[in-house]
This record gives sequence, C-alpha cells and structure tokens, in this order.
Amino acid sequence: MRLRDIAGQDQATALLSRAVASGRLAHALLFDGPDGAGKRSAALGLALALSCPEQPNLGCGTCDVCRRILAGQHPDVRVLVPGTNQIVLDQVKEIVALAASRPHEAPARVLVIDQADCLNPSAANCLLKTLEEPVPGNTIVLVTAAPARLLPTIRSRCQRVRFVGLPPAVLIELATRRGIDRARAETAAAAAGGSAARLYELCESEVESNLWTVASRFRQAIASSEMGPIFDAAAAFSDKEERQDLSEALVLLARFYRDALALAAGAEDLVLLGSHSAEMAAPAGACQRRHSLIPLRRAVNAVLDARSGLAANVNAVTALEKMMMDIRSSAVEAS
Ligand SMILES: [Zn+2]
Repeated sequence: MRLRDIAGQDQATALLSRAVASGRLAHALLFDGPDGAGKRSAALGLALALSCPEQPNLGCGTCDVCRRILAGQHPDVRVLVPGTNQIVLDQVKEIVALAASRPHEAPARVLVIDQADCLNPSAANCLLKTLEEPVPGNTIVLVTAAPARLLPTIRSRCQRVRFVGLPPAVLIELATRRGIDRARAETAAAAAGGSAARLYELCESEVESNLWTVASRFRQAIASSEMGPIFDAAAAFSDKEERQDLSEALVLLARFYRDALALAAGAEDLVLLGSHSAEMAAPAGACQRRHSLIPLRRAVNAVLDARSGLAANVNAVTALEKMMMDIRSSAVEAS
C-alpha cells in the first residue's frame, strides 16, 4: 500500500511524504497509535516511497521493487515481529547487523520492528546505539500501540509519528468498498473501535450479526413491562465464555442510544447507524418519548458504566441487570 492509499491518517502520511521528498527523514521513527490504524502498512508505504525507481518519493505500488516489498521478498525491507510475546536479543541483533551496513539493492533499507513494546530489556538496550546512528541509507521504524511501555531512552531516540483511531465514516467506506452491505458496515464500524483490522474481522465472521443480536436482546428486555426478561438477558452472561464479544456489543448498544439521542435532537448528520434510524425514531428501547433527551443520555451513560465495570471485573450479571434497570427506570420517570 502506498502512503497516499492509507485511509484516515492524513496527518501522519503527509508528514512522512514531506520528510521523504525533502530528504530529511529521521533515521529512527516511532509509529504509535491504536491497533488496526494502518501503522504497519504505512511503514511499508514508506519503504515504497524510499525505494521505488518508477515514482521516486511516492512509490508506484506496481513495479518489481514495490511488488517485492509488498510481498515481503525484498532484501532491504525487513519486518520483525515478536516471536512469542516478546522480542528477544537475538532478533534485535539481526536488525542491528543489517543497520550497520549499506542497503543491498535499493537506495534505502527499511527495518520495521512491529509491536516494539514487546522488546525485552536486553533487546531494547542492544538497539539503543543503532537508533542513534545507523549507517546512512537505513531507516528503523518502531511500531507500537503502547508507546508508554517502551523504554524512555528508546522513545527519545525516535521521531514520533502519531496514528489515530479511524473515524467511523472511514471504516464504513473501507467495508463497503469490500462489498459489505451498508447496514453490516455500520454495525462493524460502530464496534471496531477505530481499527480497520477489527472491522474486517467483524465483517468476515458471524461476530458482527451476533453483536446486534446481543444488543437487541438487551433493548427488548428493557422495553418489557416485566422484570423477568432483564434477569434472563443478564443471566445469559454468567459464563465467562459467553462474554467474549460482550464489550463490543455494549459499545454498539451505547452507539445505538447515542444515535437515537442525536436523531431526537435533530442532528441527523451525527448518526452513524443510519440504517437503523427507523428503530431509533420509534421508541428506542424503553425511551418512550421521541423528544425526551435525558433518558437517552442516561441510557448511553448506563451502558458505558456497565462496560467499564466489566473491564474492572465486577460481577457481569449484576452490572448488566443494573444497566438495564437504570435505562428502564429513567425512561419510566420521563414518561
Ligand atoms: Zn514502484
């Protein structure tokens, strides 16, 4: 992927393109940002820009050099990934040795260390001197979603390039470009947390429809006049195994209420789950009154509180019961 093809990261890719074009690219870079934001693709895009003979400083993506880089078959582009859950000294020694020599073939060599937060202390220390002064022609790119876990001495030797979580509109476009229908794309975009990688996983598996099933079950339980459905809906998550996708289902549910709130406030342009706007305009769960904003706002908070509680290991069944009862009682108060 060329730098200019990377979606939703205009600031990062513009910074890199400018640095390449002006010949002032730092020799050690730290790409940080959430998983699935396109950091590793950007590292390869950078390699194309530095190496492509057809479109220097840009990369064409189709010539022999570009193709070998993208296929992982170019001798001057190396991507190091953690072996198990850490990057050990021997792996880094290989990078250090490469950075001590001129590129074999291309005008530049790009050495990428993916998940650089997995560098163990001896591996990180071994890398320090190389980050400071690799042999000219070498660029080292550290990629991480957790920059705080890197040694400060590593961070301070790299120029930081920040990648952002992808906005929902970009995610929807990525999914629809792959032939995913609009409603599914919206659901996956709402739950993907800014990650293109997670978006594709959600679209390609059954998980995306399962998230809606879970979110809808909660809404139906809240709308019921009985308490039984609330207890049943919560009890379905007493087993840890059942809770695998629960956090994302709650993100989706919060998004649903948030969109209903935007719709009720007349801000249609803020609605992400547009394919479901008929459901939202109709009573959203137990929030009976179309123009009653407060219960919808409380519903968003109740869902997010439950999600934080689950992340902090509170009892899942209790947290879900409380969430549904809170949403229901604030709707009842308002009606
Ligand atoms: Zn090319």
